[in-house]
Amino acid sequence: MGIKESEVYQMLNLAEDYLLDGFHHDHPPLPAASVQEGGGGASSRQQILENIARQVAGCTRCALHRERRKTVPGAGAIDPLVMVIGEGPGGEEDRCGKPFVGRAGQYLDRWLTAIGLERNSSCFIGNIVKCRPPGNRDPLPQEITACLPYLKQQIEVLEPKAILTLGRIATQILCGRSEGIGKLRGQELDYLGIPVVATYHPSAVLRNTDLRAAVWEDLKRLRALPPLELNP
Ligand code: URA
Ligand code: SF4
Repeated sequence: MGIKESEVYQMLNLAEDYLLDGFHHDHPPLPAASVQEGGGGASSRQQILENIARQVAGCTRCALHRERRKTVPGAGAIDPLVMVIGEGPGGEEDRCGKPFVGRAGQYLDRWLTAIGLERNSSCFIGNIVKCRPPGNRDPLPQEITACLPYLKQQIEVLEPKAILTLGRIATQILCGRSEGIGKLRGQELDYLGIPVVATYHPSAVLRNTDLRAAVWEDLKRLRALPPLELNP
């Protein structure tokens, strides 16, 4: 098997960093990451994901890099059934570099286990922006635009069977829609042919428990998607 484009790219980046005396700067996102089938598939997938995370760690493409403590590139299985997509890191995520570790994250874990999923073995959890918006404000359009290529590459590499979007922003951005989450949930959505189930953000549900019934409906719709083969 010859050298893959992603590996060449990675080596060039490393060489460039080395020549710049260890200064790790912001490399442009990878060209369309191609994942091989079979043999070397898993390891190249891992390498591409690590490469994306490395680029994110050094990224200065938008102003959110200024106040972040840690970048939160996303985490989970490299062969996930479901890619879960939130909005952006909050305070605890910013401190530890992992997605959904705060109160909303613990709640999300319960949602996933309720339908037979688990964050590390069958999901990959990511966010629209990889750095914390100050004060947990909504990410701005220019921040989303700057960061989105990373998420798109992650989805392309991970090839999830389904996507669960959490909240209005993740759903609007991924599906190119403009309605509120109350309108978008329950609709048949997709991202490049991958089925998308939209639901409320767990933080919103913690604030307003009336939303729980809707979330449960959405989770059941996710569980029932044929490619997941989850037994209800
Ligand atoms: N909320 C999000 O949208 N993403 C996280 O990673 C944590 C909280
Ligand atoms: Fe880069 Fe995204 Fe962080 Fe902005 S939010 S600095 S685009 S990684």
